[in-house]
Amino acid sequence: MSQVLPEISLVIPCYNEEGSLCALVDSIQSALNPLGISYEVVITDDCSMDRSWTLLKEIAAANPHFRIQRFKFNCGESAASWAGMMTAQGRYIITLDADLQNDPRDIPKFMEALKHYDCVCGTRVTSRGRGDNFVKIVSSSIANWVRNKLSDENISDAGCTYRAFKRECLSKIKFFKGAHRFLPTLLKMEGFTVTEIPVTNQPRFAGQSHYGIWNRLFKSFADLLAIRWMKKRMIKYEITETLN
Ligand code: UDP
Ligand code: MG
Repeated sequence: MSQVLPEISLVIPCYNEEGSLCALVDSIQSALNPLGISYEVVITDDCSMDRSWTLLKEIAAANPHFRIQRFKFNCGESAASWAGMMTAQGRYIITLDADLQNDPRDIPKFMEALKHYDCVCGTRVTSRGRGDNFVKIVSSSIANWVRNKLSDENISDAGCTYRAFKRECLSKIKFFKGAHRFLPTLLKMEGFTVTEIPVTNQPRFAGQSHYGIWNRLFKSFADLLAIRWMKKRMIKYEITETLN
């Protein structure tokens, strides 16, 4: 019997998010169930040390929409996100945080934009004041400016991982540690169309961010230089005529 694949896969990396998971499940269900779209939620537990995995097992046992997997050791957000994308079966993939900073009620806006683009990225530029403190807002705008300047990009909020894209986008790209910050650029390099839409930015529901200024800005600078190099050195050609 052929299995009917879901229209949407929500892909969520999770590391020590015990305080947010139940509220996350409620908000996903109340946003998506009324839409009448088939969906699955793939949550990858990045070897949490708190009760996240225990809670996830209860959630998945009670609800077959929720598919869960757990890493043997902590591998980081990019790996957890990528492993989720690889497991996802939906026609469209939507990545979001486990901490409820991203509001599932924005999903219809993503779906609408996906009618015209291969990838749709959320931007919090107009909504940051609500969820983030002053230091985070300023460091993020500097980081985005530097990123855009060095990689010849025009992404207003590269740090926002609330994004939706067609599953086939993944077939061409190579993911690496920190790649979640550069997904729109990686996709554009492969010829996919990318746009941005404003999204709600909610304060983290529970717990604390896993990043400080050091690992958010400085560590990703080396990745930025690699992306800049790759973009410049990529082979680009167009064949005008052929014979035989
Ligand atoms: N995360 C993860 N592994 C890690 C660090 C973070 O899976 O080593 C997850 C985390 O649980 C969250 C997402 O990645 O769902 C983004 O992390 P966080 O919300 O702390 O980052 P911020 O939103 O502050 O940039
Ligand atoms: Mg977050």
